[in-house]
Amino acid sequence: MSKIVLLPGDGLGPEVMAEAVKVIGWFNSNFVTKLETSEGDIGGCSIDKHGVPLSDATLKKCREADAVLLAAVGGPKWDKVDYAIRPEAGLLKLRKELELFANLRPAKVFDALVDASTLKASVVKGLDILIVRELTGGVYFGEPRGIENLPNGERRGVNTQVYTTHEIHRVARVAFELARKRNNKVCSAEKANVMESGKLWREEVTALHAAEYKDVNLSHMYADNCAMQLLRNPAQFDVIVTDNLFGDILSDEAAMLTGSLGMLPSASLGAVKPDGKRAALYEPIHGSAPDIAGKNIANPLATILSVAMMFRYSFGMMKEAALLEQAVESVLAKGLRTADIMPTGDSAGCKKLSTSDMGAALLAELDALKPKMAARA
Ligand code: NAD
Repeated sequence: MSKIVLLPGDGLGPEVMAEAVKVIGWFNSNFVTKLETSEGDIGGCSIDKHGVPLSDATLKKCREADAVLLAAVGGPKWDKVDYAIRPEAGLLKLRKELELFANLRPAKVFDALVDASTLKASVVKGLDILIVRELTGGVYFGEPRGIENLPNGERRGVNTQVYTTHEIHRVARVAFELARKRNNKVCSAEKANVMESGKLWREEVTALHAAEYKDVNLSHMYADNCAMQLLRNPAQFDVIVTDNLFGDILSDEAAMLTGSLGMLPSASLGAVKPDGKRAALYEPIHGSAPDIAGKNIANPLATILSVAMMFRYSFGMMKEAALLEQAVESVLAKGLRTADIMPTGDSAGCKKLSTSDMGAALLAELDALKPKMAARA
């Protein structure tokens, strides 16, 4: 029995999580593997109940679980809360405490949504790239940091970009391993031309590649060029590995190539432990969307695709992951859409669904696809 902790969080979180829970229930009823779920609080709802965005009890539960599925945190209600206990601080603490050093952000363009991108369909059609971002080091955590008052009356802000060999190797290893299961290409992005930490990054990725991953096609790119290439010819990439800061920016840019925030899942992974398991957090990349929360109009597919990533990376449930992704693809191909992914111009052939109707449509598609998959097996 695999244990999943569900953290619905704030805003649209509980609505999209409810649909993901139905999907997990469907797989429990239709497949041999059994997934046991329990809930916890995180973010604003946890501040309201426990005074902190992540309680020790929830953290303990997450540590003991095989995987954590989170929807979203934050909202205007908690905007004035002290920075250290903001809803987002709960999420940062969870990532740090579980040592989730590798953030996987796929950017996949579904054929049915190719026109949702602001780029030409010819540039993004069939796009399927994966950004692996280092998540627990670099300039967001480096010391010294802070803002100080200078004797001349000015103020000075400092952050420190810092990486060690070990931190670079472990995230690059994740990228190489994933590339082997995809198109076998890794592009490593840094600023080795102007930053010592970037020079070290390039040297260490090169050394690891030479020692263990010669079969993978490795290239290096300056991060600013990578940002340009993502717009010019994104299909040249398979897996991009990069640090925390550049990864933050490049993964948001790659997400926008798809044009649909409500469709994008993510995974954050820790090191593989001696028992073969690893800490893992799965979450959609969007926030709590206070503007649409509570209206049953949010797109639940990013959270549901995060479940597919959980099947693949935490539970080795490859055919279940593929079936779920196929069901999403089929629902879209039938023109079924939540409001955010409705075509802006001619919407002929498309039908607008609520959050719960999209969940129901997906379950119906899973029912329809299961016999076909069994016949293929
Ligand atoms: P957001 O992602 O919540 O919303 C941006 C826009 O996308 C909004 O118009 C929203 O309606 C839309 N949107 C987002 N998810 C959608 C979905 N599933 N279906 C349909 N439309 C969707 O970003 P924001 O407005 O900048 O932030 C809102 C709150 O969320 C803030 O408090 C922010 O701090 C927080 N936030 C949390 C996370 C997280 O939990 N990981 C990430 C980003 C922002």
